[in-house]
Amino acid sequence: MTTLSRQSPGQPVEKGMPILEVRNLVKHFPVMTGMIFQRQIGAVKAVDDVSFTIHAGETLGLVGESGSGKSTTGRSILQLHQPTSGEVIFEGEDLVTIDKDHLRRKRSRMQMIFQDPYASLNARMTVGRIVSEPLLIHNTMPNPRERAEYVESLLERVGLDPYYINRFPHAFSGGQRQRIGIARALALNPAFIVADEPISALDVSIQAQVVNLLQDLQEELKLTYLFIAHDLSMIRYICRRVAVMYKGKIVEFAETNELYDNPVHPYTRALLSAVPIPDPVAEKKRRRLDPDPEAYYEESSHMTEISPGHWVSSSKAHFSK
Ligand code: ADP
Ligand code: MG
Repeated sequence: MTTLSRQSPGQPVEKGMPILEVRNLVKHFPVMTGMIFQRQIGAVKAVDDVSFTIHAGETLGLVGESGSGKSTTGRSILQLHQPTSGEVIFEGEDLVTIDKDHLRRKRSRMQMIFQDPYASLNARMTVGRIVSEPLLIHNTMPNPRERAEYVESLLERVGLDPYYINRFPHAFSGGQRQRIGIARALALNPAFIVADEPISALDVSIQAQVVNLLQDLQEELKLTYLFIAHDLSMIRYICRRVAVMYKGKIVEFAETNELYDNPVHPYTRALLSAVPIPDPVAEKKRRRLDPDPEAYYEESSHMTEISPGHWVSSSKAHFSK
């Protein structure tokens, strides 16, 4: 590998190189009071100084309980929320500061898959229309015939029969609807996808199918994923590295196997204690830990590297045990 492998801004990034660098990302939502004259009385620190890097072709896991700031992180990366501060360097360019036109073009390279495949699909649109929508918005593929053929090929690629192109979302099962959402996310040929709890709403039997599809697509289309989940049960099979998020901060970050074998932060331990163990004897002995002990309420944004690639929030509370 050459030492001059840093990509030029705006160009596709080769496999293994940083495609996304999130630096000190902050997103606060104002808390308002007053019926007529509203004034701000505080802020929800939904994302509070978060930094990480994702390499092209990898799946980074982002795990934490509901309300920990995962979706806000994903949405702030894609600039669906304007970050309060921080940098989001995607393919060498800071999305927070580039101009609107340029951001619009960049948007086609980044997509999102949502948790609830029903709420995220417009119930009044046919499947064909839903998957065509990004192409229409970005005015790519203006020829209707060419577009229709392309949409059919996308449906086929995600395992749906194009025969159903004129049906509405309610005619499909949860897993099929998630496939429609994936086809829509693929329409503009993205490089990076935020998959925001894409399997949480699905039956366990369907979850593995959707995970397999996402993995096949990653291989074939050279995709990079930020995979968001509220527990650690599937992450082991999906992600090479994982970040654990708690109250707006990353509290632990490591290679997935390292995190499972050697969890340090009490919050990570609590999340792991909730994962069922396939061995019945061990499962019987499993003891769930409280995910929210007061002991680590105030987290530091500073991380300590306790072994190569394994970072833990430096707040003192959890090192004392
Ligand atoms: P998660 O995805 O981990 O469940 P979220 O990112 O959705 O967490 O939410 C993090 C925090 O930010 C929560 O306290 C939530 O209530 C708050 N929040 C999220 N979106 C908004 C918004 N648009 N306006 C105000 N507060 C929000
Ligand atoms: Mg969420």
